[in-house]
Amino acid sequence: MSDCIFCRIATGDLPANLAYEDEDVVAFHDLHPQAPTHILVIPRQHFSTLLDMEEEQTLLLGKLQRAAIEIARQQGLDQEGFRVVTNCLESAGQSVFHLHVHLLGGRAFTWPPG
Ligand code: 5GP
Ligand code: ZN
Repeated sequence: MSDCIFCRIATGDLPANLAYEDEDVVAFHDLHPQAPTHILVIPRQHFSTLLDMEEEQTLLLGKLQRAAIEIARQQGLDQEGFRVVTNCLESAGQSVFHLHVHLLGGRAFTWPPG
């Protein structure tokens, strides 16, 4: 989708500080980081929200999580820990409607989230 900023990042049309990419997944540093490490992991294919993920996307969902785990290791977060979260729709705080997983680390987090 040409009007989607994350699609444009995935194709290289918009610049981003990439952390990882493969044939299905792209990851890049968040523009407004909420932790010392804040990386967004997205599918190259456009899906608006988690609610669009049907059974046929099961493998892709796993690839997003696997990418987050590998990036967490690369970023040195596998000792102290990290948080992986997806906001779905407005009340959860979703502001960009291209599915993405936040990988956050480098500080302590509270629970429950705000
Ligand atoms: P959401 O609020 O949808 O869960 O997360 C969207 C995230 O995308 C936010 O953390 C926001 O800072 C980040 N973001 C929005 N626009 C851009 C952009 O153009 N580039 C990058 N790298 N991050 C962005
Ligand atoms: Zn998109």
